[in-house]
Amino acid sequence: AIRVDRLNKYYNAHHALKDVSLTVENGERIVICGPSGSGKSTLIRCISRLEDHQSGDITVLGHRIGHDEVSEARIHREVGMVFQHFNLFPHMTILENCTLAPIRVRRMSRADAEARAMTFLERVHIPEQAHKYPGELSGGQQQRVAIARSLCMMPQIMLFDEPTSALDPEMIAEVLDVMIELASDGLTMICVTHEMGFARKAADRVIFMDQGEIVEEAPPEVFFSAPRHQRTKDFLGQIL
Ligand code: ATP
Ligand code: MG
Repeated sequence: AIRVDRLNKYYNAHHALKDVSLTVENGERIVICGPSGSGKSTLIRCISRLEDHQSGDITVLGHRIGHDEVSEARIHREVGMVFQHFNLFPHMTILENCTLAPIRVRRMSRADAEARAMTFLERVHIPEQAHKYPGELSGGQQQRVAIARSLCMMPQIMLFDEPTSALDPEMIAEVLDVMIELASDGLTMICVTHEMGFARKAADRVIFMDQGEIVEEAPPEVFFSAPRHQRTKDFLGQIL
C-alpha cells in the first residue's frame, strides 16, 4: 500500500501540495486528474522520490520515505514510473533498453533479462520490434516499450504521468488498451491522465486535484455522474 499523510511540498515560496493525504491499497487503481499546475505530477514525483517534500509522511509498501537508505532503495526498486516522454535510449535497441537496468541494477544474466524482456514486449504487443531502435517505432509503440521497460524491473507499483498526452490521437488507444490490461492483472497503479474513458474502465477511484489539494475522490461511476464540488463540476465540464 501507499500511505501519504499530510504531505506538504514547496517549490521556494510556491506551496505546491497542501496537506495532501491519500491511501492506495495493494492492487488498487487510481486515476488523478485536475487542471494544469494543480500538483498532480508533484504528488506522484514525491511518491517515487523524484522530489523531496518538506513535511508529512509517505509510506510505500511499509517503508517510510526519508527514514533510512535501505527503505529508499527498496522504494526505488518497487516503484516503476512512465512519463509523457518515453526517454528511451536512442542508440540502444528496444531489447537493450529493456534489459539494461535488470542486468546492471538487478544483476540478472543477459539470457534471463532478455527472456523476461520478451515476455513483457509480448504483453504490450510488440515482440516483433525487439531488435529495432526507438527512432524506427511510432510514438505509441515507443510508449509501450517504455511501459515494458518499467515492468522488466518487476515493480509492485506503477506510476504513470500523462502517458498518452504526447501521442497522436490514433496512437492513444493502443497505449490505453495495454494499460487497461495491466490494470486487470492486480498491479497497483496511479495514473495521472485526462483520459476519462480509461478512468471509467480501469480505475477503482478517481481523484480530482486543484491548487495543491485533493478536492474530491470517488469511484468513477459516482465521480462522473454525481461530482459533489463545484470545482470538480467545472473541470469535468471543460474536459468531457
Ligand atoms: P500539468 O497538468 O500541467 O502537468 P500538474 O498538476 O502536474 O500540471 P505540477 O507539475 O505538479 O502540476 O506543478 C504544480 C505547481 O508547482 C505548478 O504551479 C508548477 O508551476 C510548480 N512547479 C512544478 N515543478 C516545479 C519546479 N521544479 N520548480 C518550481 N515550481 C515548480
Ligand atoms: Mg503534470
